[in-house]
Formats: sequence, structure tokens, C-alpha cells
Amino acid sequence: MINKETPVLVTGGSGYIASWVVQQLLEQGYKVNATVRNKSKIAKVDHLLGLQKKFPGKLALYEADLLKEGSFKESMKGCELVIHMASPFKVNVKDAQKELIDPALKGTSNILKQVNDTPTVKRVVLTSSVAAIYGDAADIEGTKNGVFTEEYWNTSSSLKHQPYSYSKTVAEKEAWKIQGEQSRWDLVVINPSFVMGPSLSNRTDGESTDFMIQLLSGSFKTGVPYLSFGFVDVRDVAAAHILAGTKESASGRHITCAVSKTMLEAGAILRKEFGNKYKLPSRELPKFLMYLVGPFAGFSWKFVSNNVGIPMSFDNSYSKKDLGLVYRDLSETFKEQVDQLVESGHVK
Ligand code: NAP
Repeated sequence: MINKETPVLVTGGSGYIASWVVQQLLEQGYKVNATVRNKSKIAKVDHLLGLQKKFPGKLALYEADLLKEGSFKESMKGCELVIHMASPFKVNVKDAQKELIDPALKGTSNILKQVNDTPTVKRVVLTSSVAAIYGDAADIEGTKNGVFTEEYWNTSSSLKHQPYSYSKTVAEKEAWKIQGEQSRWDLVVINPSFVMGPSLSNRTDGESTDFMIQLLSGSFKTGVPYLSFGFVDVRDVAAAHILAGTKESASGRHITCAVSKTMLEAGAILRKEFGNKYKLPSRELPKFLMYLVGPFAGFSWKFVSNNVGIPMSFDNSYSKKDLGLVYRDLSETFKEQVDQLVESGHVK
């Protein structure tokens, strides 16, 4: 469907997931235009410079900022496929409007306005999140069969409560609205759960890498709250984006989640693989204790009440049916992520 002579635009190309998308596109013979905020920040783009050497003439880097109108014009020129991944993924923020909502929402709107002005674009793939499907674990009580599917939208998050989830919800809604106002290009959305697995860069500032480092380094040694998440391998999420962009028949939203696990179960997978090499959590903290200590660790009472102790379940069948996605086993994902962190010197 996509002509391999035209470049594929990947926004936020230096990010944790986007870097895998860029690499897999190059391996499949596509040309890629990747945007980054600052080309001179070597720590952020070094691995992309390595890919430029490995795939000569196939990867071009552009500077662009989500908040600057027209910023993506040059990088989008001649593209048939746009994969929009750039959006801040941060859980602890001081000013949620400025740090999360504005870049997510205005960024999506800026990029899609540019798509409207770029006649070659046929399809946009948007990286949303399961955070646009649910806000709190307790939302599962409102589902028909106790499982989240693509038919649900997050209605419990706001600027004050779970603002990251709110940013993903308003951005995805805006994307569907803008797409619905025209018929030249279509929109396919990927809604990943918590993404884990090896990083192509040496950065540790992302939430996915930070979560693994915290698990291994003993931050939860005294115990973890019962919090349940969907987990998925970064390479499978990257593959989902490329399938969503290149399969003519792909449509709609796609939950991408291999399996749901609690934090304690995640620790147990690591213990099975690495024995007692790391200070992994071995017990769960009772919910009443979370009410007491939670606020000091950034968990509000509302968060504790609506999330701690509630199991999660996601239906990933549409991603398998529509995209043909095959999921890696979580133990493989975790093992290869730890190996990469050890090799890069971030974990002993
Ligand atoms: P990441 O490594 O932090 O990537 C975020 C990217 O967004 C970075 O490339 C960052 O650029 C870029 N960005 C942030 N603000 C920007 C701005 N104002 N202008 C231009 N670019 C900006 O995180 P990630 O985990 O790969 O996340 C990528 C996407 O996946 C996000 O949309 C996130 O919401 C979504 N997602 C992630 C997960 C997960 O578990 N990791 C799960 C579901 C959905 P810099 O490199 O310059 O910082």
C-alpha cells in the first residue's frame, strides 16, 4: 500500500518506542524521516546516527516541536504515511496543563493540520494508549464482561486526577475529530499498555526503563502495592505501528497488550529468571498502609481507593485479528530488557 520510495514520517523518532519503529521500518526497506526536538543532543540521537550509518541514505533527521505550528512541514513533505508518536510520557509533573495536555493535544492538532495541508499523506497512525480507554482500575466495573475493549473511553481522568491518561484521551479524541472532517487520509490508532523491553538508546529517563530500574534496584524491596497493569513488548508495539500503517485493511483502535500482571507478579517473573541477584519485591503492602504512606510517594487517596487491589484485564483479540500481531512472552521481554540495562551499565 505504501510506496517504499516515499519516506515514512515518525514523530518523536528518538523516543523509546519510536526508535524501534524507525529501526524496523529501515530493516523492512522503508525510507524514514524522523523528527527530534534537538539534533545536537547527542545522548538522545546517538543511536539514530548509528542507524544512519547502517542504512545509508535511508534515514533523515529533522528538528520539530509539537507546540510550534508548521514545525513538521519539511519532514512531512512527500510522505504517504505519518506515524505520530511524540507526546510526553511522564507520571509526576508540576504543571499538567503545560507539561502534558498542551503538547499532547496541541501537538496532535498541529500535526494533523499539517497532514491536511500535505496532499501526499494517505494514512496516519497515532500512538495513543490504554490510558485513553480507562483511567482508574475501578473503571473495569463499568465494562460488560470485566474486560477492557476498544469500545471504551476513559471518562475518569482529568487535569487534576491521572493527567497523563487525560492527555492521551483528549489527544486521541481530537485526532478522530480532525480525521472525521475529511476523507483523503484515514487514521489507525495503537493503544499500548505498559511497554517494556530493551531500549535502543542509552537513555534511562523514560517511564518504562525507569520502572524496570526501580524494580531491580530495591525501590520496592519492602513491598509493593497491589497494582495491576497490562504489559507488552516494545518490539511488538513497534511492529503493531508498522502493520497499522502498511496493511490496507487496518482500521480503528487497537489495544496492544500481551498480558496483565500485578507488580508482585512482575517481580516474580524476574526472580524466576535471575534468582536473588536483585532486590525484588517479595510481598504486597496492605491497602490501608497505602492510604497512610501513599501521599508521600505521590499516590493520592483517590488513586489508592480506585486502583489498589483491583485486577485488570484487556482484550487484545482485535490487534491479533486486524493486524496479525503476535505477542512475545513477558519473561522474554523482561530478560532482554535487564540484559540490555546490564550491558549499558545502568544496572549491575
Ligand atoms: P519517550 O521515550 O519519552 O518518548 C516520547 C517522545 O515524545 C520523545 O521522543 C520526546 O522527545 C517526544 N516529545 C515530548 N514532548 C515533545 C515536544 N514538545 N515536541 C516534540 N517532541 C516531544 O516515551 P515512549 O514510552 O517511547 O512514548 C512514546 C509514545 O508512546 C507516547 O505517545 C506515549 O504516550 C505512548 N505510550 C507509551 C507507553 C509506555 O509504556 N512507554 C504506553 C502507552 C503509550 P525527546 O526525545 O526530545 O524528549
